[in-house]
Amino acid sequence: MILSIHAIVGAVLASNSNSIGQAIILGLVSHYFLDSIPHVEYTIKNIQKGDLKTAIKEFVNISIDLIVSLAILLYLIQNKNFDQTILILTGSFFALLPDGLYFIDCLVKNKNRNIFTKFLKMHSDFHAKTHSNIASFKIQLITQIIIALALLFFILFK
Ligand SMILES: [Zn+2]
Repeated sequence: MILSIHAIVGAVLASNSNSIGQAIILGLVSHYFLDSIPHVEYTIKNIQKGDLKTAIKEFVNISIDLIVSLAILLYLIQNKNFDQTILILTGSFFALLPDGLYFIDCLVKNKNRNIFTKFLKMHSDFHAKTHSNIASFKIQLITQIIIALALLFFILFK
């Protein structure tokens, strides 16, 4: 799943929560839930291989995705008070965190180095299990469009 969708869903859900704890849980749960729905995503194969020269395109994709996420987040926190802003940013951060942890794990060569690298590996295995394994591009695209339209509706008309 692209990061922007995780960021927006986490933000929208957290904007309706009334505590940091709720925002954290909503952010995390939304991530694994969205990943379980068939979705289109870009590859980070070269980053995983540690081949940083050929991974430039993948870093560009991630950067664009994060910039789009940030732009939408800035739009969402407009005219919000301090407490609401904190909730929205917290929800969004925790909705992105699983992919952040997965990304860091990809960069770790020795997974048994310490308790943190072991945790990252455990998390990546769990993350992989929650992922949809439907490979049909048509289904991935259709479900992704439905999610994007639902989000647009929430952002514009709620
Ligand atoms: Zn994920």
